Amino acid sequence: MPLSVPDILKRNQLSVTESRKRILELFRENGGALEHNDIEKRTGEKFDRVTIYRTLQTFVEKGIIHTIPTTDNSVRYALCKDECTEGHHHDNHVHFVCEVCSTTFCLEAVSVPEVHLPKGFKPANIQVIATGKCKNC
Ligand SMILES: [Zn+2]
Ligand SMILES: [Zn+2]
Ligand SMILES: [Zn+2]
Repeated sequence: MPLSVPDILKRNQLSVTESRKRILELFRENGGALEHNDIEKRTGEKFDRVTIYRTLQTFVEKGIIHTIPTTDNSVRYALCKDECTEGHHHDNHVHFVCEVCSTTFCLEAVSVPEVHLPKGFKPANIQVIATGKCKNC
């Protein structure tokens, strides 16, 4: 049984606000990644950009969602698995962006391969984005 939306917020010591509840519900309903604009559209302009932005930042900090950079410089967000906690993300999986339907998928089962960087380079974050045609297209 997955936790209810208010339970997820409480477990992360977040008060249950209308915007947090609604935005988290959107991610649960959607199943894939969402952009800021998607969220703005789907909440029916009920929340302003700043509220949405702050809510997303809080969720990222708490380990509820993670960011996925895209080639057009927009950022997408997707739900994390349970292993992520405040300040510690464990989302080292490959992301897939479909060029046909532009859906972004978290490929949880596919780990990012180890990358060997030259001496002196310390990576904080390595992202692998695969693009192409998804299973639904
Ligand atoms: Zn995460
Ligand atoms: Zn597709
Ligand atoms: Zn992901």
